[in-house]
Formats: sequence, structure tokens, C-alpha cells
Amino acid sequence: MDEQKVALVTGASRGIGKAIADQLAHDGFTVIGTATTDEGVIGINENFAKNKLSGKGIKLNLSEYENIKKFVNNILDEFNCVDIIVNNAAITKDNLLVRMKDDEWNDVININLNAVFTLTKGLIRAMIKKRWGRIVNISSVVAFMGNPGQANYCAAKAGILGFSKSLAIELANRNITVNTVSPGFIDTDMTRTLNEQQREAILATIPMNKLGNSQDIAHSVSFLCSKEANYITGQTIHVNGGMYTS
Ligand code: NAP
Repeated sequence: MDEQKVALVTGASRGIGKAIADQLAHDGFTVIGTATTDEGVIGINENFAKNKLSGKGIKLNLSEYENIKKFVNNILDEFNCVDIIVNNAAITKDNLLVRMKDDEWNDVININLNAVFTLTKGLIRAMIKKRWGRIVNISSVVAFMGNPGQANYCAAKAGILGFSKSLAIELANRNITVNTVSPGFIDTDMTRTLNEQQREAILATIPMNKLGNSQDIAHSVSFLCSKEANYITGQTIHVNGGMYTS
């Protein structure tokens, strides 16, 4: 029997990350899911226990470099190696650029992009040693299209694409694949902040005329982590109901 592989999913307390963590646990991986609060961690643990899935929740706030370094050391001590990294957690702090505060720019770049660098770098040495791994980074349709009021978020999500492609080439001969999934508009807390007018305007741009759900994204991540996807690297899977075609 294959040895039990360990998957890390950041931002697994709700939304897309929760669906990805559930799916990967159902796929047979031991899943470490992160949340920023104790309640979030408890929720992840309860969910795994209730569904008899292998995994645990761990508290992680990606806004601080030292936190990430400590988290990396702790999980390497406990698990030796993380075989699959899903960089999912992200925030938005929307504003038109003329009004955007330095903090709104810096916080989004820091959590959505810099933290992906720090976390991934901390974990890949062990993965390289094992000569097997999967890294899936969650970008966004707006990395390709742009979105007014989201220069910070779009810059971070476009950065994820360049980061992932470069890393894919660096790690290809170690049997480690690096891909991105780029969701369109998905029904989560992130999009529930939109008002009715904004929602209608977005629906008008989606040929399928509906928002996606978190499970739609989780299935693509699951595929990219599967044996069947072993020759796919440096790619993006678009999951957006036809909103953007590449
Ligand atoms: P969400 O519902 O807002 O959930 C965000 C997750 O990230 C939560 O688990 C949250 O943890 C975690 N998180 C937030 N700040 C964090 C921090 N400082 N450190 C660590 N974790 C933090 O978001 P979502 O809609 O599921 O989005 C998931 C991913 O998909 C993101 O990368 C997002 O950019 C991308 N995406 C989403 C959409 C969409 O339409 N929803 C579209 C394109 C791309 P807590 O629960 O502890 O706060």
C-alpha cells in the first residue's frame, strides 16, 4: 500500500478552502487545515471527526512572517514532510487606487503573495528530498481580466501565476508539479459582501448565469493532486462558468 500522504490547505475553515480540505481528505490524504482562530480550528477538527476523515486543524495567521516560520517548523517536526501544499487563504481590501491606503496594498500583497513564498519555500526542501509533491495555488479570474477596485488583489493573484510557473520549471525534475486553479465568482463569504446591484452586474458577465460553488474548485484541486495529473505542471485550470476563456 502507498504510504499515507499529507496535504496542507491554508484557509480551510470556510469557503473554498474548507471544500478543498474535505475533498482531499475524502481522496485519502491526511489533511492539515489552517484557520486564524481557535473556533476555526475546532470547526475543522469537528468536521474531520464527524466524517471519520484523517486530518487536523492548526492555527495560522499568514500576516506574520515569524508565525509562518514557526508553523513550518512545527508541522515538519510532526509530519516530517508535507506532500501536497494548497495555498488557498487570501483576503480582499478593495479600493480604487486613488483612494487605496498603503495598508490596503501591503496587507493584500503580504497575505496573498508574500506568505505563499514563505510557506512554500519552508516546505519544499523536504518535498524535494522525497522526490514527489503537488503544489496547487489558488489564483483568480481577475488576475487575467483585471478588476476595478482590486489593483492590490489582482497584482497578488497575477503574481501567484508567475510564481507558480517558475516553480513548476524549477521542480519538474523532482517529480513535483506546481499548478494554479483560477476561480471565477464563487459563492463564499468573499463574494457575499457584494450588494445586489454588484451581484447582478457580475451575473451578466457569466455565460452560465450563476456563481460557482466551492466544490467546483475542490474537484479541480483534487484532480491536480491525483496520480492522473502527474504530467501536468505550470498550468492553470480556469473554473469560471465561461466568464473568461483563455
Ligand atoms: P473566504 O470565504 O473569505 O475564506 C478565506 C479563508 O482564508 C478563511 O479560511 C480564512 O480563515 C483564511 N484567511 C483569511 N485571512 C487569513 C490570514 N491572515 N492568515 C491565514 N488565513 C487567512 O475566501 P474564499 O472565497 O473561500 O477564497 C478562497 C481562495 O479562492 C482565495 O485565494 C481567493 O482569493 C480565491 N478566489 C475566490 C473567489 C470567490 O469568488 N470566492 C474567486 C476567485 C478566487 P478564517 O476563517 O480564520 O478567517
